Amino acid sequence: MMVLMKLDSQQQQINDVLQKISARHCKGHVIYGTTRIGIGVTGEVSNFQPDDFLFMDGVLDVVRISKKFKLVSREAKSEDTIIQIGEEKIGGGSLNIIAGPCSIESKDQLFDVAGALKEMGVKFFRAGAYKPRTSPYAFQGLKEKGLELLKEVKETFGLYIVTEVKDTETLAQVAEVTDILQIGARNMQNFSLLERVGSIQKPVLLKRGLSASIEDLLMSAEYILAQGNFDVILCERGIRTFETYTRNTLDLNAVPVIKGLSHLPVFVDPSHGIGIWDKVEPMSMASVACGADGLMIEVHCDPGNALSDGYQSLTPKNFKHLIGKLEALAPVAEKELNLDVQPK
Ligand code: PEP
Ligand code: MN
Repeated sequence: MMVLMKLDSQQQQINDVLQKISARHCKGHVIYGTTRIGIGVTGEVSNFQPDDFLFMDGVLDVVRISKKFKLVSREAKSEDTIIQIGEEKIGGGSLNIIAGPCSIESKDQLFDVAGALKEMGVKFFRAGAYKPRTSPYAFQGLKEKGLELLKEVKETFGLYIVTEVKDTETLAQVAEVTDILQIGARNMQNFSLLERVGSIQKPVLLKRGLSASIEDLLMSAEYILAQGNFDVILCERGIRTFETYTRNTLDLNAVPVIKGLSHLPVFVDPSHGIGIWDKVEPMSMASVACGADGLMIEVHCDPGNALSDGYQSLTPKNFKHLIGKLEALAPVAEKELNLDVQPK
């Protein structure tokens, strides 16, 4: 249920509505739009009738949300969500690029690739310290040591950090270092982790689960918003199908479909989506063409010796080639490529 209020409502009028909601053991979420203020009501909304609010000062209308997901829906908020991270804006008309290696392996490995990406104008740097691997015998990441190295990268290069949080135990540690908390595909339905990241005010990049439907992904995002954190980026990263020539099947249908259903920004990770380095460029182009708000790309200076996902990682040189293509494509897709302008 949404209580729609006038854009110039007074704080006291908003508080009165919120108080009425909490008095009946529901939760109110204030969503500031450009034409009105919405208050999303979650919990036992059957406790309410529209008339409970319609006669309150500042209230314009009360609407029921038909979808299973509520706060993430376009019914709750018609305009695109724009997430502010430092100086940068995610969503709206900007096309953001998150790039970096799959895992942090050593200081040299991390600094080499971070330096190369910074030089190419990249603003968001990814690298995993905690790696959820299919095999317990595979490299699990440098953990705390990796987080320390990420902190150094941030200080040295002034890059925004995106790194995965694997469990609730390490959330506080990871949140201290990162600018965006990545929730991996394998954790998309770890509901206690979702609730915990929802209760801290730090942007989240939520990756689609290996066998998750679009609705599953949106319901997982709902867990985060329901706790009060609206800064969520959804990320299509490929799903499991019968196809064996590619690592996953990148479901680009999801991009325009989700953008129709939800106000949240949608990114695509073509590296995991296809899993083959020389196919990452065409799938990146396709992602932008179908409306993605950003890309997450794995880049490694020596992919042949990477400790994880080398076969899908671009070298800095190949990444530069991709950037050149995206520069040409972005205006056609009505997006502004958000990279630091480099002297030609
Ligand atoms: C990753 O980004 O390196 C990763 C593990 O991704 P996913 O959770 O999508 O498999
Ligand atoms: Mn990876």
